[in-house]
Amino acid sequence: MTEFTFDTGPSCDDDSDPSSLQIDSAQEKILSEITAVSETESIILADSLHRVLAEDIIADINVPMAANSAMDGYAICSSDIPTDELRELKLIGTSWAGRPFANTVNAGECVRIMTGGILPEGTDTIVMQEHVQVKDDIILIDSRAVKGDHVRPVGEDFCKGDTIIKANTQLTAAHIGLMASLGKGSISVYRRLKVAYFLTGDELRSIGEVLEPGQIYDSNSYTLSAMLDHPAIEVYDLGIVRDDKQVTLEILENASKLADIVITTGGVSVGEADYVKDALEALGDVSFWKVAMKPGRPLAFGKVGKAAFFGLPGNPVSAMVTFYQFVLPALHKAMGIELVLPPTFRVTCLSMLKKRPGRVEYQRGILTRDQRGEIVVSNTGEQGSGILSSMARANCFIILPLESDGVIAGETVEVQPFYGVM
Ligand code: AMP
Ligand code: MG
Repeated sequence: MTEFTFDTGPSCDDDSDPSSLQIDSAQEKILSEITAVSETESIILADSLHRVLAEDIIADINVPMAANSAMDGYAICSSDIPTDELRELKLIGTSWAGRPFANTVNAGECVRIMTGGILPEGTDTIVMQEHVQVKDDIILIDSRAVKGDHVRPVGEDFCKGDTIIKANTQLTAAHIGLMASLGKGSISVYRRLKVAYFLTGDELRSIGEVLEPGQIYDSNSYTLSAMLDHPAIEVYDLGIVRDDKQVTLEILENASKLADIVITTGGVSVGEADYVKDALEALGDVSFWKVAMKPGRPLAFGKVGKAAFFGLPGNPVSAMVTFYQFVLPALHKAMGIELVLPPTFRVTCLSMLKKRPGRVEYQRGILTRDQRGEIVVSNTGEQGSGILSSMARANCFIILPLESDGVIAGETVEVQPFYGVM
């Protein structure tokens, strides 16, 4: 007689599983395996937004190079400032931004000056035009002015020899402007991080193909490509791969030669058609983890050749959650920038949230302001790991800790706003 047994392997429905890995230990293990790109390239400043600087930027000039005016007004010598009554000064010329007044200003004289105009020799103070009475070439000043008023001194922004931007900084608009003010036209940055991905599943079809019963459009490649869209990342989309060990092996090997980081979705759970797992066992040094989180419990991580490998779950929401929690910090480290974990904070939750203890849950939430102006969160309704519309409606994760057994409306919860690669 045939004996029937239950498959006692972990299931997505189990909440506490003693063999599960906690999220922070998974993150630590991942980061300890990731190394930063070290090769550099020279690029022009105009192309450098969000690239990662590979050199310290040291100022070779003072900015500003000469003391200049922060206001439209009159440049005077502070010894001419009267102590009580008004004083007359003779107007002898103008200093425009870019067109300085060439002569020296003597006691009893002044020069009309525009914002950015260089302070003429002999002057040390700007009197704003609103505080001056003018008649022909005579101005009247009162005792309000103070020596040095409205003067931008030499090197106010930075001085020659200052390190103004450190290597490993991810460049923003302000950094680029700062380097332009130094006259720096090209800079050294780390080369782009190469990230390859492919999708596994016999049921997957590409947009434009006709769906037969049981088939679905691959959405993960689009989500991944959008999440990886960054000037410091070069993305290789290797497409959909059939559930076949040999094909998976070949594409995996190819990907690992091409890229620093390889990402797949699907095929890492305990399902019978999970060929990615077989191929990885043959080719790489990869661990299969059950992370104590929901969604996104099955996760594979390790090395294939020289590349770091992430096997994300196939469910579209799980793929996104695991990308944000595990791939994103790894990308930052590999790009050479300081690790920036997504910020979290606590707010009042307006919804009742169902949960069983045993796993950390990333529910999808919507942060808004209530009538009093306080930030509050509500959830997006159904939270299944295949319900991608719950991500699309959301602007944050509501993170419920391991031991939580749900939330009553009005309690506070931890939230993590969505953010991109940066
Ligand atoms: P798997 O992790 O391969 O068992 O897949 C889990 C679920 O995610 C299944 O319902 C798959 O059909 C679905 N899935 C896997 N890959 C994709 C993809 N690229 N786009 C959309 N859904 C996917
Ligand atoms: Mg599959």
